Amino acid sequence: MSHDPTPSLRPSACPALTRIVSARDGGLCRIKLPGGELHAEQAIAIAEAASEHAGGVIELTNRSNVQLRGVRAGHEPALIARLLAAGLGPRQFPDASPLASKASCDAPLSTPRLAAADDVRNVMASPSAGRDIGALVDTRHLAAQLLALLEGEPRFAALSPKFALLLDGGERLAALDHPHDIWLSAIAPEQHAGQTWFAFGLAGEPSCTQRCALAAVQAVDVPALVRALLTLFLDLARPEETRMRHLVAAHGEIALLEHLAYRIDFPLRRDAAVDAWRRAPADASLRFGAHRQRDGERWYVGAQPPLGRLDAPTLRELARLAQQTAATLRATPWQGVLLVDVEASAVPQVQRALDALGLIQDARHPLARLVACAGSPGCMKAHADTKADALALAPHLPDDVQVHVSGCVRSCAAAHCAPYTLLAVEPGRYDVYRRVEQAAAQSPSDESGALGAGPATPRFGERLDTHLTLDQATRVLHAARLAYGVSSHA
Ligand code: SF4
Repeated sequence: MSHDPTPSLRPSACPALTRIVSARDGGLCRIKLPGGELHAEQAIAIAEAASEHAGGVIELTNRSNVQLRGVRAGHEPALIARLLAAGLGPRQFPDASPLASKASCDAPLSTPRLAAADDVRNVMASPSAGRDIGALVDTRHLAAQLLALLEGEPRFAALSPKFALLLDGGERLAALDHPHDIWLSAIAPEQHAGQTWFAFGLAGEPSCTQRCALAAVQAVDVPALVRALLTLFLDLARPEETRMRHLVAAHGEIALLEHLAYRIDFPLRRDAAVDAWRRAPADASLRFGAHRQRDGERWYVGAQPPLGRLDAPTLRELARLAQQTAATLRATPWQGVLLVDVEASAVPQVQRALDALGLIQDARHPLARLVACAGSPGCMKAHADTKADALALAPHLPDDVQVHVSGCVRSCAAAHCAPYTLLAVEPGRYDVYRRVEQAAAQSPSDESGALGAGPATPRFGERLDTHLTLDQATRVLHAARLAYGVSSHA
């Protein structure tokens, strides 16, 4: 076990606010939003920066963040300064003005410490946290504590920029199928003598149907638990083990839990109630339309831009809409937005405005059921123009079917396994996969599918057919819809 107190930064090619990476369509800059929250002034700053320093394309990501595409060569320092000045950097670096003034005289704009603090800001929460009518607990204060812990502890700079935490308050609107390195999920107080406890697990998600929580801790102990888990990870992980799944594979969950028990001075609850705990199902369709908040008076309204992309004028109009209605914007992990705290009287105005901006508010809309990565116009790894192909596919998509169109196996647009995946193999040609449940995936009978298919892959599921044109892929999706009904479409 190593205890080197000096953080050794792990190299990263991930885009970040101060690390603009090169893509086919220019620089790519990712802005992390705490809890997905985006104040109207910040949204306006992003829209202006996208117009002045980039190609004007703004993407919402599946981690409730925002990224700018097409950053122009030579504009990077001014773009970074603009975003930092809008308070879009780590909270430990609230005063961006010295950095901004340095930028104007070509001094180094960011420090490694700033970049590292930005990289580790990966705490996912429900976009309706604090507002959701079904939530067991308001996680926002705890999420802020975890972000401060991640940003403020120099040793955590050694974590991979992909290392991510999920803090789940039991909301009805939640993305529970995104694997996280550490997840925590609130347990109903009546299940634990009136106390608020959080079940937790490693390298997975809380939506499993089998026993999935390792143990539970009281809410007050969550920051200390996360600190202990992160230091345990850094102490045990070899350089090539960058994610918690690697550590779990190397040591096993039970051994890690035993290590953890020596490092904490609060109770870890492991009993029949924790074993029996299952996360109540969430309803991702609540990301669309208007829903009353837990105060019984105000509402949140959700919508998605087609394929997760906005232009600068649309983002500016969204910000104005938030200002006019005293609402707040939040990005969602489905590449959409919520406006929260909308007064009941303003809901029709907000919905009309979202319609006028071309945002989708109906879960049945085909473009509400399609995700696609940047594709060949933006990414050198792409085998096809996935966004254009997804738009072409949309009018022919079978009812209820959800499809991920991916330019390569990296699956940037979807952190989860979608019910169906079209994986590009060359321009206009795709392999088609169907998600299979864990038990079915392990069944020998699934090695060839009902549609005469190929092997199951852990990432996308069972391959139904290969090297198809879009028309052929559409026919396979319709046949699969008939063969498998709606069970694969949840
Ligand atoms: S999934 Fe592949 S092709 Fe698509 S954006 Fe990611 S790396 Fe590029």
